Amino acid sequence: MTPADPGQAFPTAEYALLGGSGTGTEGSPEGDQRITVREREQVFKTPYGPTPPITSCLLMDEAGVARSVLFTRPHEMGEWDLGGRTAAARGHQSLALFWLLREAGVRRIVAEAGVASITQHFHPRDLIIPHDFIDFTPQYCGQLVPGSVISMREPFCPDLRDALWQRSRRFAADKATRVFNRAVHATVEGPRFETAAEVAALARLGGDVISQTVTPEVYLAREIGACFATVEMVLNYAEGVRPEWDFDLLRAIVREGAEELGGVALDALAALPAEATCSCAHHRQVGPVRSAAVGEPA
Ligand SMILES: [Zn+2]
Repeated sequence: MTPADPGQAFPTAEYALLGGSGTGTEGSPEGDQRITVREREQVFKTPYGPTPPITSCLLMDEAGVARSVLFTRPHEMGEWDLGGRTAAARGHQSLALFWLLREAGVRRIVAEAGVASITQHFHPRDLIIPHDFIDFTPQYCGQLVPGSVISMREPFCPDLRDALWQRSRRFAADKATRVFNRAVHATVEGPRFETAAEVAALARLGGDVISQTVTPEVYLAREIGACFATVEMVLNYAEGVRPEWDFDLLRAIVREGAEELGGVALDALAALPAEATCSCAHHRQVGPVRSAAVGEPA
């Protein structure tokens, strides 16, 4: 662990947007008319190494009040690619990002991503708001507060999920597609896609959709006491699910729908009530389990 740069000023923000397929296109979300960019793609030095590039924005909410939002794409590896896209590198960059988000005061985090359907019930262009996840990656490499107890009860914030659900329903009505607010997200390591046998196994284990995102963000968010939820667009059927997926169709969906998916995430951030009603921050205990409790034998 290396010390953070003592001369570096950190941004302050209550909200964060973690981009995936929906904000991978040029101009999103920076080009959204509700967004004012304050600082573009800054990299911060943290005890866990450099953060991914972070853009600091103001988002006009539905009442016309500016909300401070940090935007980054945590699964774009940037300079980490030079050393290989290893699980350890991903874990360290995630720790660096969430260390910075904690320093910035971020309390609510919305992510967006493209996923593959591993059931026959979700089709390309459907929107999914997962309620639970299964992590099949080996990437988790430590905690920001070693020894903390991080409960995964209701891992995705109900307040954020409700905001995403309301905005996704409006989007789905406009685009003649569908939205689902219950699904189990399975995260795999990648970078390759899965075999048909692996997809069948993941489906039997309870997964509904699959991607290489969501973890470790969902549990690092809880560790810093922030709420987290994600909205996902089905880009393709996973291997072995009928009909066979087609790379041209996947690219077309990314081109057509991706920027709009980023818009749904921004809509939810702009519509969130200022006061949280959820219990997310209570699902963690900071510090070791064994403390000097009253009556505990020495
Ligand atoms: Zn919450």
